[in-house]
Amino acid sequence: MRAVERLTPRMARIRFGGEALAGFPDEEPGEILTLIWPAEGADEPVLPRNGWRFAPGTPEQHWRNYTIRDYADGADPTLTIDFVLHGDHGTASAWATRARAGATVGFAGPRIHFYAEPDADWTLLCGDETALPSIGATLERLPAGHRVVAFVEVADAGERLALATRCDLELTWIHRDGEPAGRCRRLHDAVTAATLPAGRPKVWIAGESLAVRDLREHLRDERGLPIGLLQAIGYWKHRTTPRDIE
Ligand SMILES: Cc1cc2nc3c(=O)[nH]c(=O)nc-3n(C[C@H](O)[C@H](O)[C@H](O)COP(=O)(O)OP(=O)(O)OC[C@H]3O[C@@H](n4cnc5c(N)ncnc54)[C@H](O)[C@@H]3O)c2cc1C
Repeated sequence: MRAVERLTPRMARIRFGGEALAGFPDEEPGEILTLIWPAEGADEPVLPRNGWRFAPGTPEQHWRNYTIRDYADGADPTLTIDFVLHGDHGTASAWATRARAGATVGFAGPRIHFYAEPDADWTLLCGDETALPSIGATLERLPAGHRVVAFVEVADAGERLALATRCDLELTWIHRDGEPAGRCRRLHDAVTAATLPAGRPKVWIAGESLAVRDLREHLRDERGLPIGLLQAIGYWKHRTTPRDIE
C-alpha cells in the first residue's frame, strides 16, 4: 500500500503499488479484485493456489471483493481502490479506516465485471456508495455523448463525489440523511418514480443485495426491460437480509 486519502468522511481512496500489479489486463471499466487480509495475529495474507484452494491448516483469511477504480501500468504500476468506511464491524472497512503506507494486502484477479452492451441506446447506472467506484470508472470510459441516467445513494450530501465524464449524464444523488444503509428505500423510490428514456438500455445495478433484487424486479416486471439487459449484483448484505438472496 502506497498512500491513503480521505475523499469524504466515509470514503478512503487507497493506492497500491508493487511488481505483482504489473501488466494487468484493463479491458472494461470497474474490473474487480478479491482482496485478502491476513488472519488474526498474522502479518502476511496466505494466498489461494490452484484457483481458490488453501493448504490444509491455513487459518481462515478474510476476503472481500473490491472495484479497481483506476489502474496505471508502466515502470511503477499503481492501482486505486475506493473503500466505503462503514464502521469497525467489518474487517475490510476497519482496515481501510486505519491503513498506512507499507501495509500489505493479498489479491486475486482481476476479473471483468461490467459487460458493455454495444447496441444500447442509453445506459442506466444505479447503486449505493459501494457501487460508486464502478459507476465513476464506467462514466470515464463510456463514449462521448452516450446518454447515461444514474442514481447514486449515499449517506448525506458530504459523501457526493465529483464524477468526470464525456457522456450526456443525468445524475441524481439520493441522501439517506440518517436512514440506515441497506434498509433505506429512497433509491428504490427515486428509480420507480423516474421517467426513463425510450429505447434499449444497458442497465447496471449494485449495492445491498435485497435493494438490488427489488430494483431488478421493478425494472423487469414494471418497466418490461428484458432480463438479458439487466446486470444486477448484490455487493453486500445487511445483517437482516436472508443469506440466500444474491
Ligand atoms: C463485485 C464487488 C465489488 C465491490 N466493490 C467495492 C468497492 O469498490 N468499494 C467498497 O467500499 N465496497 C465494494 N464492494 C462491497 C464490499 O465488498 C462489502 O461492503 C464488504 O462486505 C465489506 O467487507 P467488510 O469486511 O468491511 O464487512 P463484512 O465482514 O462483509 O460485514 C460486516 C458487517 O458490515 C455490514 N456491511 C458490509 N458492507 C457494508 C456497507 N457498505 N455499508 C454498511 N454496512 C455494511 C454487513 O452487513 C455486516 O453486518 C464490492 C462488492 C462486490 C461484490
